[in-house]
Amino acid sequence: MMNVAARETKGEVTRLRLRLRGAVQGVGFRPFAYGLAARYSLGGFVRNDAQGVTLEVEGAQAQDFVVALQSELPPLARLDHVEIETVAPRGEQAFIIEATRQGAARTRIPADAATCEKCLDDLFDPASRFHLYPFVNCTHCGPRYTLTRRLPYDRAQTSMACFPMCADCARDYADPANRRFHAEPIACSNCGPRLSHAPDEIVAALRAGQIVALKGIGGFHLLCDARNAEAVARLRVRKSREAKPFAIMVANESSVSLFGRPRADELELLRGAAHPIVLVESRQNLPAAIAPDMARLGVMLAYAPVHHLLFHAAGGTRHDANDFVLVATSANPGGAPLVTDNDEARAKLANIADLVVTHDRDIVVRADDSVMQIVDGAPAFLRRARGFVPEPIDLGADGPCVLACGGHHKATLTLTRGREAFVCQHVGDLSDSETFRFYRESAAHLLRLLDVTPEAYACDLHPDYLSTRFAQEDASDASGAPVLRFQHHAAHVAAVGAEHGMNGVLFGAALDGHGLGDDGGSWGGEALRLDGRGGFRRPGHVAPLALLGGDRAAREPLRMGLAAFAALGRLDEAAAFFATRAEAAELSRRFAARPAPATTSLGRLFDAASALLGFAQRQDFEGQAAMRLEALVRAPRALEGGYVLRDGMVDFTPLLAHLIDTRPEAREGAELLHGTLIAGVGAWLSSLASRGEKIALGGGCLMNRVLAEGLAGHLRENGFAPLLARKIPPNDGGLSLGQAALARALLTQE
Ligand SMILES: [Zn+2]
Ligand SMILES: [Zn+2]
Repeated sequence: MMNVAARETKGEVTRLRLRLRGAVQGVGFRPFAYGLAARYSLGGFVRNDAQGVTLEVEGAQAQDFVVALQSELPPLARLDHVEIETVAPRGEQAFIIEATRQGAARTRIPADAATCEKCLDDLFDPASRFHLYPFVNCTHCGPRYTLTRRLPYDRAQTSMACFPMCADCARDYADPANRRFHAEPIACSNCGPRLSHAPDEIVAALRAGQIVALKGIGGFHLLCDARNAEAVARLRVRKSREAKPFAIMVANESSVSLFGRPRADELELLRGAAHPIVLVESRQNLPAAIAPDMARLGVMLAYAPVHHLLFHAAGGTRHDANDFVLVATSANPGGAPLVTDNDEARAKLANIADLVVTHDRDIVVRADDSVMQIVDGAPAFLRRARGFVPEPIDLGADGPCVLACGGHHKATLTLTRGREAFVCQHVGDLSDSETFRFYRESAAHLLRLLDVTPEAYACDLHPDYLSTRFAQEDASDASGAPVLRFQHHAAHVAAVGAEHGMNGVLFGAALDGHGLGDDGGSWGGEALRLDGRGGFRRPGHVAPLALLGGDRAAREPLRMGLAAFAALGRLDEAAAFFATRAEAAELSRRFAARPAPATTSLGRLFDAASALLGFAQRQDFEGQAAMRLEALVRAPRALEGGYVLRDGMVDFTPLLAHLIDTRPEAREGAELLHGTLIAGVGAWLSSLASRGEKIALGGGCLMNRVLAEGLAGHLRENGFAPLLARKIPPNDGGLSLGQAALARALLTQE
């Protein structure tokens, strides 16, 4: 990356000009450069500008500065591009930090970062003025995006504006040698925000089995003692959440192993600056109700000072394993968005929490905890929010500005500017009216922050998605910009391509739950070839199954189980097979009388197999049965003859027949199902792709780690290069990025 234009002789005075792009603003970069300049006795300047940072250094050791600059970057800084040129010396001895130029609003807001080690030193140092202060932060850590109203990223534009700095904080803020130089949210117990309850009091409530709502960084958490089965059960009842797994929060890295068996790469992900929730193998020593029927547990480390204070108050030390462990789940009652506001919390969480703990720093932007897992040797998202937004995704090339409106479930929006795509945080299911309001706010916030006017809007083909309606209304209100509609699964494939810088012709598969096909059908197991101009061909798909009852089939696997019988022409046997399900007889009669429309969805095929393997009951959330099956798998095995390839289709009815005829126990069935799907989908895609080609793998089914890893491995063994979603989730959370990429391809073509 470095390309030093001119060599210098040691001892000779040189002046170098460096232009740096990447994550270099709001991350303590200027004081870092200031410190290095002092170390090497250099004159010159550093300043933020529209592209990033420009700096000049002059002196005998300018080259040493350049080397140290790269090797000693501050924790949150990242260099994407470095340009260096030699310029004429000016005889400057002093190094100064120049003020940010007016009009240079094209700056970035950094993502929120977990409390850094140095701030933890301060937090627990009785001699520090930040001792036990729940809002300690510095340029290496703390909230950013969640408290910023608008650009440029300055204290006055954040929810810290109402806290005038005390003399000590003002001095640190103005001192280029201080870690808190221009730490916009700097605060201390004299001048900053305050917590409504003391940590001791909060811990006492938790130990007594109470449910505590705690205001954090991106919203309120609901907390309870994770070892207390009765408290966990009460939280489930009060939150009306039957089975969807809860995440736990532990004090520190050493504590993870008390409850899980984290691998080295999972620990690395856990301690990264974002501190996401990471799925790790569970030791199954916490109450089963935390993550019913799951083999893995969502774990996160304490990431805000207030969390560290709770574990400290519970008797823990900073680095030793601490068995005080909390369920920490988003406070989002009844599918509504995460609660962020104090009054809202007191009103809406009163029936759920026994104690509501607030503070007086407003959360401007809501952000759930991000959820990740290691898939095929690298991190992948299940939900992308806190700690990652608003970090842009590099699209690899310039293009028109597009606002892409995403899907309906797990909705996100993407706004592009130049070669960057800004994907907003996980919003949620737009059927909920408050979530839809949050969605509209997120669109407005993105447009305000980036200060751009979209040349086009992009959305799904589905006319009933609220995101589609939003695109149409907002485009006509705002500017009359064209609204471009893209097929759901083409967007899934394009999303994976976009984050890998693939904007041209691209082959891929969308393995998904449901999306509207361009023939009006229900799609979800598609091999697609994008043409690089916004269009695509569909060389093949998963052999269809009947979709009895439309959306209801996604919640009631029994319906897909009946579809499996129907596909085999054996519907008359179904009622006897599902003898324990009273509704099976009536449903199969209805089915026989009036055949249902078809779906090519791989997600529904999972549901069919789940029903045949004894998971026919109504699901608490989409994909629950499939997740239970995934959790059972130790080693996937392919059933000999379990699939057939014909006419560009992969047909798994032989596998379904085997499950019906042999009724294997659930684990054996789950291993056969996964193994056969991997072998069948792998063979199918191999038959449709060109030799050695890249194959993009998108869609909600790729959240299934066994399937994603198995398929990627299978394709690699056959000489292909599988691409998995890394920077955005493979499910509908990534749809907006794919729509944006397709829209830019189409517009660029025109
Ligand atoms: Zn810090
Ligand atoms: Zn202060």
